[in-house]
Amino acid sequence: MGMGGRISYEFLMTFCVLTGFISHETATFSRRPTTLDDFKNSMLLFGHEIATDTAGINVEPAGFIKAAELYNWRLIHTVAATATPSGPVTGEAWTRCADAILDAARSEQPTIDGVLLGLHGAMATEDDFDAEGLLLSQLRALLGPDIPIAVTLDLHANVTDRMVANADILCAYRTYPHVDQIATVLRAADLLERTLQGEISPYTLVARRTMLTGLDHGRTTTENPMTQLLAEADVLEARDEKLLTISLCAGFRLTDLDQAGPSVTITSDGDDLAYAVMADHFMDYAWAQRHFDSNRYLSVDACMAELKTALPETRRTLSGPIVIADHADNPGAGAYGDSTFLLKGLLDSKITNAAFATIYDPHAVRQLTDAGTGAEVSLFIGGKTDPKFGPPLFVSGRVANITDGRYQMLGPYARGSWQNLGPLVVLNIAGIDVLIASHCVQITELETFTHAGIDPRVRDVIALKSMQHFRAAFEPIASQLLIVDCGALASEDISRLPYKNLRRPIYPLDLD
Ligand SMILES: [Zn+2]
Repeated sequence: MGMGGRISYEFLMTFCVLTGFISHETATFSRRPTTLDDFKNSMLLFGHEIATDTAGINVEPAGFIKAAELYNWRLIHTVAATATPSGPVTGEAWTRCADAILDAARSEQPTIDGVLLGLHGAMATEDDFDAEGLLLSQLRALLGPDIPIAVTLDLHANVTDRMVANADILCAYRTYPHVDQIATVLRAADLLERTLQGEISPYTLVARRTMLTGLDHGRTTTENPMTQLLAEADVLEARDEKLLTISLCAGFRLTDLDQAGPSVTITSDGDDLAYAVMADHFMDYAWAQRHFDSNRYLSVDACMAELKTALPETRRTLSGPIVIADHADNPGAGAYGDSTFLLKGLLDSKITNAAFATIYDPHAVRQLTDAGTGAEVSLFIGGKTDPKFGPPLFVSGRVANITDGRYQMLGPYARGSWQNLGPLVVLNIAGIDVLIASHCVQITELETFTHAGIDPRVRDVIALKSMQHFRAAFEPIASQLLIVDCGALASEDISRLPYKNLRRPIYPLDLD
C-alpha cells in the first residue's frame, strides 16, 4: 500500500484491538503447582494498571502500547501475568487470567476489530497441557472466524495444531537469551495492522519432526542450526512479499504434550503449498542437525576439577569470575531451585571468595532472619522439594545480610522489570556467600548479588541457577563459563521422566 492509503486511513479508521499477556513455561513433571500467588510474586496486572506498571519495561504489554501509538489503535487491556516456570497452573490462577481476556472478548465483542496476545506457547493447566491452544480456541469461538488474532510466542513454545488453527498470525522471539520481546510484538502488530487494513490475508501453518529436542535449545549466542535457520528465514522473508514471517521454536521438553518439540511456523499472505514445502525444508535441516549441542555439560566432580585448574590463573590475572551455571536446577525451566549438589561440590572443594545464588528455602530464610545479622547458625538448607535432586544440606555459617529480595533488573534481559526473590538471607559458609531465597527464581542479573552487597566482578567464582539467560549479564564480566548438569529436574538426561502423552517413538527418547 502506498503512502496515500496510509494517510487517508488515519483520518478514517481507528481500530480497536483486544490485548492480553499471559506467559508461563510449565514443567508438567514438576510436583510444585503454579498458583495465583506465584503470579502475584512476578507480575499480575489487570485493566488500566497494565499500561502504567509496564511502561518502559522489556515486556510484551509495553509493546502493545507502542503499537497502539504507531497505528492509532484503541486498546482493550485485560491481563498481564507471568510467573516463574513451575508445575501446572492451578484452576484458580488460570481462570483469573484467561477469564480477563475471554470476558472482555464477550462484553466488547461488537467493537473489537482484532486481537493481539502475548503468550508463551508452553503453558499447561492442571486440566489441559495445551493452555494456549485452549485459550485461542475459546477466543475464536467467541469472536468468530473473521476477527484476526495475532499471537507472539516464546522461542520455547510447543506449537500445537490447535494454536495454529485458531490464530492467524504467529510471531516467536528470535533471541535466546530473550531480549526481543518488544520487537516481536511490533512484528506481529505490523502484520495485524496490514490485515485490518485489508492489505493481506494471513494464513499460518506448522511443521514438526519426530523430535522433542533440537535446534541447540534455540540458543542464539553462537553459530548453530538455530542461527543458521533464522538467517535463512531473514533472506527468504526479504525476497518474497507474500512470506510474512517465519518462526522457529525450539520447544520445551518438560511438557508432557503430544505435539511438544521443535517446530517452524510460516505465516503467509494466503494459503500456498510452496510454504508447506519450505517448512518441511526447515524441519528436515533441524532433524539432520538434531545432535548439535553447543554446550559442554560437566558433572559436579568434573566441574570442580576444571575449577581447581583454572582458579590460579583467574586470580593472577584478575580477569573476572568463573561463572558456573547450574543448568539442571534452573527455575527458569521449572526445576525446583533447591538442589544442593553443586553447592556441596563447592563446599567439599573448599572454594572461597565465591557467591552462590540461590538455594530456594523459605523455611531456612525464616530461621536465619530470626537469628539475625551476624549470628552464627547451623541448619539444613535446600533439598526439601524432592530430595533425589540433592538432599537437605547441613551447614554452619554466619548471617552476612538480610534483604527483601527485591531489585530492578538492569541487564539486557527483562531490563527495567523488578525481580522479587522474597525475603532473602546471605549466609557465609566457609568463604562462600550463599543467597537463600523465599521465592524460586532463575538468576539472570548482576543485581541479584549487588542488591545484597556482593560485587560479582571481584569474586573468583559465581555459581547461579540458570541455563542460558544468565549469559546476557554475566558473560561480559566472566573470565570463563562452566555449565554443570547435576541431574536435577531440568537435566539433559530426560530418560527418567514418565512421559504419557508425548507422541512416540521420538528423538532422543526412542530414536537416534
Ligand atoms: Zn524461552
